[in-house]
Amino acid sequence: MFYTRCYAPFLFYLWLKKKIMVKEEKQTQEITIKHKYCDDCGIEIKRDMACSVAKCEICGKDLCNKCIGHEANTMGDYREVYCKKCWELGTEYRLKIEQLENEIENLSTEWHSRCRS
Ligand SMILES: [Zn+2]
Ligand SMILES: [Zn+2]
Repeated sequence: MFYTRCYAPFLFYLWLKKKIMVKEEKQTQEITIKHKYCDDCGIEIKRDMACSVAKCEICGKDLCNKCIGHEANTMGDYREVYCKKCWELGTEYRLKIEQLENEIENLSTEWHSRCRS
């Protein structure tokens, strides 16, 4: 009886210590920093808390500042970014799209002006 009463606080101490250690272990596991690397050149992307990571709109690659082919002027937090490859491949298409957009605008203006005359 005396034996157990004497060791009880010590055993409690051991139990508590183990519990605390387990808790500490869990905490360190939770603080794992996710590293992001550029999908084009492989360098680590230092993440700025203020802005999101640049991601190519088309192929979805994570990009560092050096590997961004083009970044559109967007308001807000969302970044519209293209990698060099996708932006280069799009050159001829963007030109055609622009031509067609102008054509649409001209047709629309022509239509409206005919109605007004
Ligand atoms: Zn890069
Ligand atoms: Zn891309």
